[in-house]
Amino acid sequence: MPTLLNRHIDRDGSGIALAGDGGAALTWSGLGERVDRWRDVLARAGLGEGDRVAAVVGNRPEAFELLLACLHGGLVLVPVNWHLTASEIRHILADSGSRALVAEPAYAATAAEARTEGCALGIVLGDRDRDGFAAAEPLLAAADPAGPGRQSCGSTMLYTSGTTGKPKGVVNNLFTVGAPFEKVDRLTRYARTVLGVPAGERVMLDGPWYHSAQLFFSLLSLLQGSRLVVRRRFDPVATLRTIDREQITAVHLVPTQFIRLLRLDEETRRAFSGASLRRVWHGGGPCPAEVKRAMIDWWGPVLVEYYGATEGGAVTLIDSDEWLRRPGSVGRAVPAYELLVVGPDGAPLPPGREGRVFVRRKVGRSFSYHNDPDKTRKAHLAPDTFTFGELGRLDEDGRLYLTGREQDMIVSGGVNVYPAEVEAALIAHPGVRDVAVVGLPDPEFGERVVAVVEPAPGTGSDLALRLDRHCRTRLAGFKAPRAYHFVDTLPREPTGKLRRDALRLGDLPGTAA
Ligand code: ATP
Repeated sequence: MPTLLNRHIDRDGSGIALAGDGGAALTWSGLGERVDRWRDVLARAGLGEGDRVAAVVGNRPEAFELLLACLHGGLVLVPVNWHLTASEIRHILADSGSRALVAEPAYAATAAEARTEGCALGIVLGDRDRDGFAAAEPLLAAADPAGPGRQSCGSTMLYTSGTTGKPKGVVNNLFTVGAPFEKVDRLTRYARTVLGVPAGERVMLDGPWYHSAQLFFSLLSLLQGSRLVVRRRFDPVATLRTIDREQITAVHLVPTQFIRLLRLDEETRRAFSGASLRRVWHGGGPCPAEVKRAMIDWWGPVLVEYYGATEGGAVTLIDSDEWLRRPGSVGRAVPAYELLVVGPDGAPLPPGREGRVFVRRKVGRSFSYHNDPDKTRKAHLAPDTFTFGELGRLDEDGRLYLTGREQDMIVSGGVNVYPAEVEAALIAHPGVRDVAVVGLPDPEFGERVVAVVEPAPGTGSDLALRLDRHCRTRLAGFKAPRAYHFVDTLPREPTGKLRRDALRLGDLPGTAA
């Protein structure tokens, strides 16, 4: 019986543990059995402690069966972003050294094309062999539900979003391979008491499970006996309905999802009760203050923001009430971390001064980038002190305010402009559906600020002029975009992150404001 699920099976074996939005649901006992069958299949294929198993699987319950099987079998699961091309997936398979690849039918052809030589085992979910993969269901049906005897803790290796370059594999995101299961228990207790990850509640996954925050909150909720409802893809109306129907108490959303929810018509919004919701985590990108305020007005003070990254999990937290008193802050460090803002010489700066944001881990180990000691070294100030690449400042009480990513910062005429600040001003304009602010090379100023705008339907042809006026009343003149470029849709990940690589900045002619 899988150690991590034992107590939930004993307590409530016939209760629902894991559900998909198609209506399929697994009880705790059923989940335990599936996990053991997956373990058996992986063990029979000769996979052992520390081996990597990649998964190109969308949001469906099987992803969590597989994840739990890897954790119980001492394997390392490598969730792969299913939007990647075959060559991008190949990079992850080769970089991680994955020995098995699990795909779902929709991505099987791309996965088969990506499959590397070292990847001995290929399994496709669904019941037919496809593209040289073995079909999962017959394999699982033939597997021994008692599973292999020995249990050894596995982990995950998550790849970062790749918004600032090639995705980076982060080692030991979750647990340490081979660690005793008591350590996992300690982490789940920490998640409950410090981060408010719910035990015995109803949690909804409504973003890609391959992303660290979604995976962390969903898995740790499940491990604490919460029911996990896995939504296949975000749809604002269906999301509201699922929350009410399933009496969801906690969910993780990103600012782009807030924006899409806020655009729903009055009637749909009024039909939503949301009475069951106790916590809505958000983070992973800046949330414009207007958007956050509107969500709190609508859903109540249930929003909890964190600042964090694949490399270190959540390092700060701020609840709605505190945020309303200190708008713009991402909160104070959680007990496991300390925050530092340092100047160019690496020395800590006093409150109020802006610099590079570092976090010091007070317990446990730091992270490393797989196969990239140089990048690991550059991210570290000391063995326990590292950065995710943000700039920001602290207030007198240790609250962090982020100004933007170091790498995205635009230097125009020697002055720093932070895209996040300009984007927040622009998104507040009713003519803007979505926006990204970037720096383009400029012979005179080094870089010039350019806004790439997805206009709201029905906006007139003078939008650039109106946006320029709007920005100049809200921002210092040097921050106002010098040009506006209009696109049908901005290339965003389902996590809300902008694919800067897909913006094709070189092609932007720009419409002079
Ligand atoms: P890559 O490193 O490959 O470019 P990524 O950094 O986007 O990808 P993630 O680990 O998914 O990968 O995201 C972490 C980043 O998300 C942080 O460095 C920060 O820029 C941003 N972020 C997280 N939380 C917040 C927040 N509350 N407010 C603003 N930005 C946030």
